[in-house]
Amino acid sequence: MNTIAEQLKDVLDRIRQAEQRSGRPAGAINLVAVSKTFPAEDVQECYQAGQRIFGENKVQEMLSKIPALPADAQWHLIGPLQRNKVRKVVGKSALIHSVDSLRLATYMDSVAQEFGVCQPILLEVHIGGEDSKFGFSPDELKVAWGALLELGHLDIRGLMCIPPPVDDPNDARPFFQQLRSLRDELNEQSPHTIHELSMGMSHDFEIAVEEGATMVRVGTSIFGHRDYSNKA
Ligand SMILES: *Cc1c(COP(=O)(O)O)cnc(C)c1O
Repeated sequence: MNTIAEQLKDVLDRIRQAEQRSGRPAGAINLVAVSKTFPAEDVQECYQAGQRIFGENKVQEMLSKIPALPADAQWHLIGPLQRNKVRKVVGKSALIHSVDSLRLATYMDSVAQEFGVCQPILLEVHIGGEDSKFGFSPDELKVAWGALLELGHLDIRGLMCIPPPVDDPNDARPFFQQLRSLRDELNEQSPHTIHELSMGMSHDFEIAVEEGATMVRVGTSIFGHRDYSNKA
């Protein structure tokens, strides 16, 4: 089996190649190494290999790993966020990818104000039209956009999506295109422009890069397959 350092290098090479193929500037894409379920030692190994941005999908797990890594590691929360975890995570995460309702955003803004911080966030959009528990629909987001921009303690940087699962990564292309058009449309509506598109995971990150991703979230291709069997 390859080491984490080797797998990281392979993922970075594939990102660079996809950047080149699609005429994007080198370094236009940030890699979020998704370390959920893996022990802090594995994250340290990845850090030693040069990686700085790590993604976790549970608040508690993220908080437990923060002290194990040097202070310049950045922690992104990518998983669904419950209201009762907001106070624990605001000010601790360099970017929260999963803000999925105006109600959650409004509450997060009030907590950030109380803590005296401005919290960087992405808005999660459910693309693909199917019922999803998480995310704004594109129409909901367009309606909420004005109100979201008034939340002065949130720094809205962009959009995130998890498209419906497909066998052929090429079939995810239209979903990535939709997220990109939505971002461009929102940017036409207001002076506040957003840049980030967090899209693409292990099986489809190269396609996502070709379609304009600025951040890809890759777990399995770096750390290996996750084992949930001994988790409660
Ligand atoms: C787990 C997870 C990923 C990484 O998935 P892989 O297929 O292991 O690359 C990306 N995004 C989110 C939101 C996740 O929960």
